[in-house]
Amino acid sequence: MALVKCHECGAEISDEAKKCLRCGARSRAYNQRQLRKAAKIIFIPPLLLIILLGVFLSGNPGSRPPLPLDPVRAAEKEEYENMRAVMLCRDSVTANLRDPDSAKFDTSTPATRLKDGAVILNITLRARSGFGGMTNAEYFCHIKKNGSGIWEITKLIQKE
Ligand SMILES: [Zn+2]
Repeated sequence: MALVKCHECGAEISDEAKKCLRCGARSRAYNQRQLRKAAKIIFIPPLLLIILLGVFLSGNPGSRPPLPLDPVRAAEKEEYENMRAVMLCRDSVTANLRDPDSAKFDTSTPATRLKDGAVILNITLRARSGFGGMTNAEYFCHIKKNGSGIWEITKLIQKE
């Protein structure tokens, strides 16, 4: 609260008073404040509207329908699935080695996904043989998911 001079009689009045206590003239400070208040009321709704519009346009995650197929995610999932299949084939080969810890797999051989969802790949590795030396070995692996969605090796053949 501040004191202002009445524009009519010059008496000091509160800027919050509606009119001068001495002469009864309407306070200019009070009128101006009322005008500013009115202006705020007029300007706030459009501002709110812009904010709400912005929130709406930026995407409301709750109302957006779920995307059935995200190509990037689908590709990532398939790559992960292929990797799981490859790892299982390698594990199976390793389990049959005389010296499993000596196995060095050639990781450059790619896996191929068949139309029925099965994965085929050639596994090449070097491992310690029964004679103590490192020898090369090559396997063919065919792996497929069973009815419960679990990878199962359907074929694992050592190539001569
Ligand atoms: Zn006055």
